Parts: sequence; structure tokens; C-alpha cells
Amino acid sequence: MVPDCIFCKIASGQIRAEYVYEDDWVVAFKDLHPIAPVHVLIVPKTHLDSLNEAAPANEAILGRLLAAGRQVAEKTGVAAGGYRIIINNNRDAGQEIFHLHLHLLGGRGLGPMLAR
Ligand code: AMP
Ligand code: ZN
Repeated sequence: MVPDCIFCKIASGQIRAEYVYEDDWVVAFKDLHPIAPVHVLIVPKTHLDSLNEAAPANEAILGRLLAAGRQVAEKTGVAAGGYRIIINNNRDAGQEIFHLHLHLLGGRGLGPMLAR
């Protein structure tokens, strides 16, 4: 738990969010400013600033994040149609919140993956 980290506060229940999934390691909740009909953030309960911070000891968490993404895709009804999972890592990727998270996007055609 890092003081002043909004995702630590959401993961510990101090700040409300619209949860769609929770297990011992991970919470998932709706993005406040969705860019697709389904836009869910999947967040480890353990604070890591970004993927850069993930050490070998954190590999189980990384696996659980992806597995939770798959479960959220099923639960939100986008698994069959398709979805995209994104991690913004550090400045050039536009990371705004420095608590590692996956974005799960779906519910519409998402277009080409990369802006050139
Ligand atoms: P990133 O640029 O990858 O760090 O994305 C941060 C995301 O968190 C943005 O899509 C925001 O809309 C979202 N966000 C910020 N604050 C909240 C909040 N309190 N509840 C839900 N989503 C949030
Ligand atoms: Zn945090």
C-alpha cells in the first residue's frame, strides 16, 4: 500500500470503484473515462509502479493479471467477439497512474493495433 496511490486505495476499498472482478491478488473495475463499451482496468493488489518494477518474484502476479483479464473478458461478454489488453508503461506510452494495470478494451471494432 503506497500512500496517495489511487489504485492502492481502490484495491483496498478506501475509494469506491465499479468492481467487475476480485480475487486474492487482483481487482478489476470500470475505467472512469471509458474509450470502448467495455473498458476495465485490471490491477494487482500489490503495488508495482510499472512493468519495469516487476521482478522475478512478481511473475506469479503478472500471470494472474493476464488470467484475470481473460476471466473479465468472459464475464463482460467480449471474449468471443474479441478484445485487446494494453499496458501503458512509463512516459512515452502515456502512463498516468503509476500502479501497474492492464486495460481491457472491447465491445466495438478496435481498429489497427498501432498508431504509426
Ligand atoms: P494509464 O494512462 O494507463 O495510467 O491509465 C490510467 C487510467 O485510469 C485512465 O484510463 C483513467 O481514465 C483511469 N482512472 C483514473 N482514475 C480512475 C478512477 N478513480 N477509477 C477508475 N478509473 C480511473
Ligand atoms: Zn498503488
